[in-house]
Amino acid sequence: MTDKKNVISPFHGEHDHSHCETQALESAVAECAKQGLRLTKIRRQVLEIIWAQHNPIGAYDVLQKLQEAGHKPAPPTAYRALDFLVSAKLIHRVESLNAYIGCPSPNASHQCQFYICTDCGHVAEVSNSAVSDALAAGATELGFISQQPVIEVHGVCKNCLD
Ligand SMILES: [Zn+2]
Ligand SMILES: [Zn+2]
Ligand SMILES: [Zn+2]
Repeated sequence: MTDKKNVISPFHGEHDHSHCETQALESAVAECAKQGLRLTKIRRQVLEIIWAQHNPIGAYDVLQKLQEAGHKPAPPTAYRALDFLVSAKLIHRVESLNAYIGCPSPNASHQCQFYICTDCGHVAEVSNSAVSDALAAGATELGFISQQPVIEVHGVCKNCLD
């Protein structure tokens, strides 16, 4: 069954994170060009703040970091930038934490599940079609129209267990 499972964002401990950031920004630029969206300065700054780590960050903290960096956007401007990034699938909102995380593959299908470490806060994004198929089958049985289902699993990651 491993062929059905696609780990979009594996747990990783020590690594060259500047590589993740650079790659995320590059694919964001490419994705926006493809979708005809404009990655404005503020949107890009917000994306950079979110990609500074693999842990989710709340809207208020994003705003604070913008201010620390010398930008003084009105809160609605920053929140609209977050909404834009979510709808462009460049970031995801982790509902159970009320926080945001960068998406390493914005062009993926996004029938995904999130594994959230309650110890270090790391979030891994996994796309397992068996899970999404089971949810779709359940909806069909109920005659239910499901929107993007939210699956967030809390627990302890491998790095924290070692
Ligand atoms: Zn990284
Ligand atoms: Zn994603
Ligand atoms: Zn952990």
